Amino acid sequence: MSNGYDLELINVTKKYGDALAVDRINAKFKAGSYVCLLGPSGCGKSSTLRMIAGHETVTDGSVVLDGFDVSHLPPAKRGTAMMFQNYALFPHLNVRDNVAFSLRMKGEDKPSRYARANELLEMVDLTALAERLPAQLSGGQQQRVALARALVTKPKVLLLDEPLSALDPFLRIRMRAELKKLQRELGITFIHVTHGQDEALALGDELVVMNNAVIEQSGPAREVWSAPKTEFVARFMGGHNVIAFEGGKVALRADDIRFETTGLAATITSVEYQGAHVVLNARTAAGEDVLALMPDHKFFDTPKNPGDAVMLAWDEGRLHRLQA
Ligand code: ADP
Ligand code: MG
Repeated sequence: MSNGYDLELINVTKKYGDALAVDRINAKFKAGSYVCLLGPSGCGKSSTLRMIAGHETVTDGSVVLDGFDVSHLPPAKRGTAMMFQNYALFPHLNVRDNVAFSLRMKGEDKPSRYARANELLEMVDLTALAERLPAQLSGGQQQRVALARALVTKPKVLLLDEPLSALDPFLRIRMRAELKKLQRELGITFIHVTHGQDEALALGDELVVMNNAVIEQSGPAREVWSAPKTEFVARFMGGHNVIAFEGGKVALRADDIRFETTGLAATITSVEYQGAHVVLNARTAAGEDVLALMPDHKFFDTPKNPGDAVMLAWDEGRLHRLQA
């Protein structure tokens, strides 16, 4: 099911004065997909999202929604809606009026805007709190108000800038499941900015990894994780070793490392028990750090401690060459 529109970024560029925040990025998002835009702080994620929403002008390039260049339309005319990092709720308006706000701006009469707001409050399970002020809500509840407010105009694309970052870890995981469920039900495109790779993997059908104002890699989540193209993506997504090999660099998944009787000599430097699996670090004679991940039962068959000498082994076929 999909009510959304394809979104395309063509050579989209943002400069603040002389500073290049987004450098000619190109991307195409299928209608109805959950896209996670991720990368380290300062890489240009929010600028990209704000240009899609129309809260920031494009310095160059085009934002194309369903075949129309919307680059120069105001936010309310684009078919997009944005949920902000800090929720930006109006403190003096109750929950229902916050949700109905943009309909009031559009001149809709009170009965019709309240009817629509009530529908949205029902959807995010806030009907009982409709009369409360934002200050009388928990962080998770405020987040749901912000979500309802963004969806009230029936956007084709919902843009979310680090929507879970203000929540505690427990709530963050619960809300992320709710976001995913909501996106499936609505069938519209969500573009969700995060700096967390676990959040991106959990949510994204498609990932777009940015670094230094450019897109390093984009594609289906599993492809980006299991076949990183560059050293940056391999390191940023985690769970990989990057090793100098035959004049180039290769990535090797941490869960492909085994301890055997022959192999590359190394010394265990740390052991972290994580429940279902154990994460180990080892240092080779050449001073390279190697990350290994193994199921807990396998680890406890032959437990290791920091300082233990080990032999690291892997299948050559599991080495994955990275672009220079
Ligand atoms: P991210 O969301 O990935 O952390 P941003 O898009 O916010 O990155 O910022 C990208 C770069 O642009 C950063 O170097 C940031 O300092 C700069 N920047 C962002 N907003 C502005 C602004 N309004 N004026 C000047 N520089 C900005
Ligand atoms: Mg940001």
